[in-house]
Amino acid sequence: MAATRSNAPADKIRLGISSCLLGEPVRYDGGHKHDAYLTDTLGPFVQWVPVCPEVECGLPVPREAMHLEGDPASPRLVTIRTHVDQTERMLSWARRRVEELAREDLCGFVFKANSPSCGREGIPVYDARGMAQESGVGLFARAFIERFPLLPVEDEGRLHDPALRENFIERVFALRRYRDALGAGGGARGRLVAFHAAHKLLLMAHSPALAQEMGRLVARAKDLPTPDLRARYEELLLKALGLMATPAKHANVLQHMMGYLKKNLSADEKQEMLILVGDYRAGLVPLIVPVTLMKHYVRKYGVGYLAQQAYLSPHPAELALRNHA
Ligand code: SF4
Repeated sequence: MAATRSNAPADKIRLGISSCLLGEPVRYDGGHKHDAYLTDTLGPFVQWVPVCPEVECGLPVPREAMHLEGDPASPRLVTIRTHVDQTERMLSWARRRVEELAREDLCGFVFKANSPSCGREGIPVYDARGMAQESGVGLFARAFIERFPLLPVEDEGRLHDPALRENFIERVFALRRYRDALGAGGGARGRLVAFHAAHKLLLMAHSPALAQEMGRLVARAKDLPTPDLRARYEELLLKALGLMATPAKHANVLQHMMGYLKKNLSADEKQEMLILVGDYRAGLVPLIVPVTLMKHYVRKYGVGYLAQQAYLSPHPAELALRNHA
């Protein structure tokens, strides 16, 4: 993996992806839906695990287009012209495939939007009169999400939104660091305590309440069996990071960080920082602006607790995710 200017994990992150997003010609019409951001920008930092449910369950390329029909909570996957029901074929393959994927060490999945197999939300489900409700989930996406309810998942359409993109990628990188930090073998409690210390402010930016709950859990680490501790901590971690970090929460974290610098910052430096935090909160500058100044002060004054915070560099700087969020 290329060197980065952040605390990116040493190993590439494994992410599942709908194959057509990588440019593989697997769509019903023999085409693909190559997404250049995913392959060219995010691609150097991840190892993709491609899945095409329709091809892997045995359907040919090209093939007749399909859509969802029936009950939106449990729809059927049916070919549009000849009305062949492929539901059982898809579901029995999906049940096996998600168990294989459980051994792939995935940190998330990027689904193709608007697909009756891969779409993670808002897929039209047609009733007997041919009327559609846009409330369905693709059959494979549903099987995946039910098997891995807390794993970060997104679709390529939503990843065009800078805030959703930053949130997804931040979660994925944090999960990789967590798994790397805990690893296998002994000493897991101590490593979990160190991971939590380094991620306190990142967690606060997503959910101050869950960050506190995790702090209480870590404080009781010695009293809990390690497997219980790990399972509960990982559940809270993924829940917390799944909540969007907002400008108000980021501003709160930055002001909290200023508290650690209050003996160091001059009146001018404090004022400059407060102005930038206010400008960020008002939407006048992106998050990278106050965070860059904060990093400068942390380096200048050598505040160890802040220097170790993943919040300052949660993903590779090359992705420029905070330049737009
Ligand atoms: S959307 Fe899913 S099922 Fe359809 S071509 Fe892409 S990967 Fe295959």
